[in-house]
Amino acid sequence: MKEVKKHTGFGFVVKSLVSGLGLTWRHFKNARNRRTPEYVSDENYFKQPDGMATLKYPYEALPVPDNGRYRLHNEIDDCIVCDLCAKVCPVNCITIESVKATEEIGMTSDGTKKRLYAPVFDIDMAKCCYCGLCTTVCPTDCLTMTPVYDFAEVDIKNMVYHFTDLTPEQSEEKKQLLAKQQEEMAAAKAAALAARKKD
Ligand code: SF4
Ligand code: SF4
Repeated sequence: MKEVKKHTGFGFVVKSLVSGLGLTWRHFKNARNRRTPEYVSDENYFKQPDGMATLKYPYEALPVPDNGRYRLHNEIDDCIVCDLCAKVCPVNCITIESVKATEEIGMTSDGTKKRLYAPVFDIDMAKCCYCGLCTTVCPTDCLTMTPVYDFAEVDIKNMVYHFTDLTPEQSEEKKQLLAKQQEEMAAAKAAALAARKKD
């Protein structure tokens, strides 16, 4: 039977030590050269095995891909408060409250007529799973995923982003105007019905 040679001799230990130290020294020397920050999809990414690869974040950062999905933003001026985004969201992190406008409130930048105000338009980015579905269904493309990925907060409450452009007072005013208009319309309808019955 062939005897298995044990690598336990002093010579072997010294050889391993020298080879290990040699490797460390090589990396140590190479680390003086900084590698240019390259994104993982760059052709050259795996062709630069030597050198320091650590980035001085946040002074240096890898570019984010164009189709990356990061923090959401709602350009509220272009939002028609249709609620589609909230309905499609798989984790229910979009909260919208709408109030019908009693007057003309203009158009979005793509020419869609606006009919609703949004006293509440909140997105809880702590719950968001970055699926992007809400941006896909948005009819006016006002909801987008930005390249902002570094937005950690100490207080989780700050992860809820408020996009409404109405103050609580303005929201209350819009609600009251709508209630008044609805009352007037109901009264006018009742009067019209009563007049029809008389004829
Ligand atoms: S990206 Fe997905 S999880 Fe996040 S708000 Fe939009 S639909 Fe919801
Ligand atoms: S889908 Fe777009 S337009 Fe509709 S409520 Fe959401 S953000 Fe606004």
